[in-house]
Amino acid sequence: MTHSRDASPAVVAQQQVLRETLPFDDDQDFIDAETGFLGRLDPCVVHADDGRVVWDNDSYGFVQGEAPDTANPSLWRQATLAAKHGLYEVVEGIYQVRGLDLSNVTFVEGHTGVIVIDPLISTETAAAALALYREHRGDRPVTAVVYTHSHADHFGGVKGVTTQQAVDAGDVVVVAPPGFVEHAVSENVYAGTAMGRRAGYMYGAALERGPAGQIGAGLGQTTSTGTVTLIAPTLEITTTGQEEVIDGVRMEFQLAPGTEAPTEMHFYFPDHRALCMAENATHVLHNLLTLRGAVVRDPHAWSTYLTEAIDLFGDRVEVAFASHH
Ligand SMILES: [Zn+2]
Repeated sequence: MTHSRDASPAVVAQQQVLRETLPFDDDQDFIDAETGFLGRLDPCVVHADDGRVVWDNDSYGFVQGEAPDTANPSLWRQATLAAKHGLYEVVEGIYQVRGLDLSNVTFVEGHTGVIVIDPLISTETAAAALALYREHRGDRPVTAVVYTHSHADHFGGVKGVTTQQAVDAGDVVVVAPPGFVEHAVSENVYAGTAMGRRAGYMYGAALERGPAGQIGAGLGQTTSTGTVTLIAPTLEITTTGQEEVIDGVRMEFQLAPGTEAPTEMHFYFPDHRALCMAENATHVLHNLLTLRGAVVRDPHAWSTYLTEAIDLFGDRVEVAFASHH
């Protein structure tokens, strides 16, 4: 497969229209994306035990500067932002590792250890993210894992940050919205083979990376290709308004079913004035009908839960974060 062809004159003309009509001089996203930077993995490459590369963010080094004629300038800009990687402070006590997978992993420091929110797709990338966090914030034990929703890019790496034995022993609590395992299995196992093939087209995984090939996937650069695992939840959140104290950290939950995933939740950290919006308020247009064939999302439910989040938490929030971008 070759991608060295030039863009057609019609495409070049269309890119020019986008350049002239979209607000490319608004650089707030770039300021936000740099805020709180603490350190990065260098090189940003993660291997499996057998030496296979499961993540290579450095292969996107070509994404910088002005968009070439072969790239939609808006996708190019998004990729420039999403290719940034490293450990970032969201607020004191809450940290994210970005650019180590399609999704972000969040670390919330508790009284005795650290709470992990959404441990990426693969055990290898999740373990690398935890190691990067610990390098900068100390060797804290994982005391809890929180899954925001039932998609594999938010739970698959769980055994890279903890073990089934630690959960069974009660040393680690695993928190999730209702029906988490049922939905995780139905989307990722029963429909998994068909959706996996379609996801290959949706994310352009077979394309060579380059200005005329795969540039990014919007939500992040691409999906990691390591070991996907699952540990069942031990604490189910069943109602909006439910409050829990996990490793000394107060959390207030809002259920948001039928939004980005069949089961999903937002939660607020009152002591940090920080709100986790799962995958319902990210820096892309909300994906209502995915090309990979995930369950069609209900736009009315999605907008209703956003409004409810504003009503529940809006006057108390200083920072909102999500599990992408
Ligand atoms: Zn996701």
